[in-house]
Amino acid sequence: MSEIISRLAVFGVGLIGGSLALALKRAGAVGEVVGVDRSIENLQLARDLGIIDRAATDAADAVTGADMVVLAVPVGQMAAVMRAMAPYLSPHAVVTDVGSTKQDVVALMQQHLVAHLDHCVPAHPIAGAELSGATAARADLYLAKKLVLTPLAQTRPDATSKVATMWQICGAQVRTMSAPEHDAIFAAVSHLPHLLAYALVDMIAQRDNAAQLFEFAASGFRDFTRIAGSDPEMWRDIALANRSALLAELQAYQAQLARLAGALEQHDSAALIGLFSRARQARQDWAAPINE
Ligand code: NAP
Repeated sequence: MSEIISRLAVFGVGLIGGSLALALKRAGAVGEVVGVDRSIENLQLARDLGIIDRAATDAADAVTGADMVVLAVPVGQMAAVMRAMAPYLSPHAVVTDVGSTKQDVVALMQQHLVAHLDHCVPAHPIAGAELSGATAARADLYLAKKLVLTPLAQTRPDATSKVATMWQICGAQVRTMSAPEHDAIFAAVSHLPHLLAYALVDMIAQRDNAAQLFEFAASGFRDFTRIAGSDPEMWRDIALANRSALLAELQAYQAQLARLAGALEQHDSAALIGLFSRARQARQDWAAPINE
């Protein structure tokens, strides 16, 4: 594989940014990886694990000479990072991100990277885990996973295609859509499930007999609540950034729960069988290609 990036600057060398760096290094697609992180310990770990070649002292040091800059911090930190690096970006540097929400990142780029918008390529890898930090990074995280690009009206096609190629090298399948479409889709299939998992675990944990309930909770509870182990800061930022789409999904879910409660109150066996059967069929149809 030939080198497509000479110097990659990664802000936030955690699960997502660290896995990207590892995958590009394994493919021989990057010359040098420079890391920046809020935590010195995490940065040291990233160097020890071979995820980065060099820890930058600050944003200026990180982006000077970089031809690809990846923002892999929680979305609530994107503004501060963009502000810090903007004056030092090389004119040809491509700036991309991995944030789970896109309309907010697009708006921040338009606010803080005004002189650089033709090189900005917002992105979101649809891969991850409830684990955080450099120790969670894996070179194979993006294999056969989707990657969504939401380019700006100003983005140059060659910048978009450089970011697309970077992710394809990591094994991802690249899709392009608008930022509002992205945020509506992920409110439904990612952000809502995370809120439900957090809400259920918290509700159980607040009960007087929580210890007993957790003692008897088994695989169904484990599967449903795995994502409640996710990083609270990251999910606070995502929930607030995608607030309106998420509120609409919460209302739709509350209406669905009200229909279920009504069916229980009415002893409506047909309604329960109908809903459970439709859901089981849809779940099986969705999961089938994954298991092939
Ligand atoms: P992570 O493992 O916690 O890594 C993020 C890293 O960024 C942490 O080391 C964190 O330091 C550091 N950081 C935070 N603020 C910073 C700042 N201002 N400057 C420099 N470094 C900073 O999180 P992640 O899972 O990789 O998530 C990173 C991004 O990917 C988020 O925007 C998230 O929405 C997105 N994403 C996550 C997933 C997923 O499943 N996890 C999937 C797709 C996209 P600390 O150790 O101090 O917190």
